[in-house]
Amino acid sequence: MHRSLRLAVAVVWCTPLAAQTPKATAPQQVLIKAGRLIDGRSDAPQSGVGILVEGDRIKAVGPLAQLQGQAKTARVVDLSSLTLLPGFIDVHTHLLLQGDPTAQSYNEQLLYQSTPYRAILAARNARVALEHGFTAIRDLETEGAMYADVDVKRAVSRGEVPGPRIFASTRAMAPTGMYPIVSDNWELELPHGVQPVDGADNARLAVREQVAHGADWIKYYSDRRYYFGPAPDSVLHSWVNFTDDEARAIVDEAHRLGRHVAAHAIGSDGIAAALRAGVNTIEHGDGMTDSLAGVLAARGVYWVPTVTVSRYVAGPRGGPWEAMAEHQRRAFARALKQGVKIVLGTDVGGFPWTEINQAKEFEYYVQYGMSPMQAIKSGTSLAAELLGQPDIGVVAAGMYADLVAVAADPLKDITELERVRFVMKGGVVYVSP
Ligand SMILES: [Zn+2]
Repeated sequence: MHRSLRLAVAVVWCTPLAAQTPKATAPQQVLIKAGRLIDGRSDAPQSGVGILVEGDRIKAVGPLAQLQGQAKTARVVDLSSLTLLPGFIDVHTHLLLQGDPTAQSYNEQLLYQSTPYRAILAARNARVALEHGFTAIRDLETEGAMYADVDVKRAVSRGEVPGPRIFASTRAMAPTGMYPIVSDNWELELPHGVQPVDGADNARLAVREQVAHGADWIKYYSDRRYYFGPAPDSVLHSWVNFTDDEARAIVDEAHRLGRHVAAHAIGSDGIAAALRAGVNTIEHGDGMTDSLAGVLAARGVYWVPTVTVSRYVAGPRGGPWEAMAEHQRRAFARALKQGVKIVLGTDVGGFPWTEINQAKEFEYYVQYGMSPMQAIKSGTSLAAELLGQPDIGVVAAGMYADLVAVAADPLKDITELERVRFVMKGGVVYVSP
């Protein structure tokens, strides 16, 4: 069994299983024996379960004995000593970035690396994500690499390179002078990490351009320059980038074109401005207050805390960043109690893809107050809900066959999710025990 599985990996690496099957014959069926199943939706795991995969979809999930009778010719994948879960979803990534703890590390990538070189690294990063069990990601802007995320997405979806399902947001937006690279040398026009946008009409134009070039999501930077108010205030403030008119134009135009909007919003002022504009997701949100969390909960706006990057950059950046991370930890527990939908996003790319496994974010969420099952849902079914993708995030009949498996019990030790032993995406096996 193991040998045939490895052979399958080698042969189908670049070709979806369905594409290999001649049309005249029935699609290849695979019966996965799961020791235990955490399906991403139920509150408790199940045991003695089989998952029948046909082509790129799950055909049935049920008692193993029953499925064995139903699918006698299916190839069997024996994961009876493992715990099976839905493929993980990270809703905040940067495929085109290799870590930017300091301004210097950011500027070096934009100044001294060509977009083709950065795209090659992005393809490598896509493979890293998949091998860590992430079968879908929302990539939240290319940091100056224009529309290269759409090219990486295209190459992955055509089976040219391995990677997760990618939801791309292309260039992101900030007003002139409010996002790196900024320099004292006014004689040189340096590369911009975003599309500079000024005025409501230009905001609409930028949304239309980005959607025309393949943006699935629109992202803008709501704030910058973070600082704590004087004691006893202790509120994390920020400078708001766009006027309310500009921000509303971005959101309205995106919604008109069927796209949702993510706002980078770290300080309370930036979060409040993004909520006034009507965004769908708040990114980072270190300065979340109880009243702002109440608005998120009431309106069903998602919060993507990206704790891994907060903890990674706190040291190198110094200043208020450590206190910001601590503020976020306290806000997280309270927002959770208020019923805010907190979805797993790491900001990988802000830290190097090759240094830290994205799945560390699960561990932080448990440290911050989620149960292990809540954390798993945050990075599977709830993330699929944020993406508006009803066919992923849950192990159930009709869904895409995006599956991972781990050896020990992740409900007892959440860090087990950082050690996946099996990864399948769309019926194709990429990692096998
Ligand atoms: Zn980011």
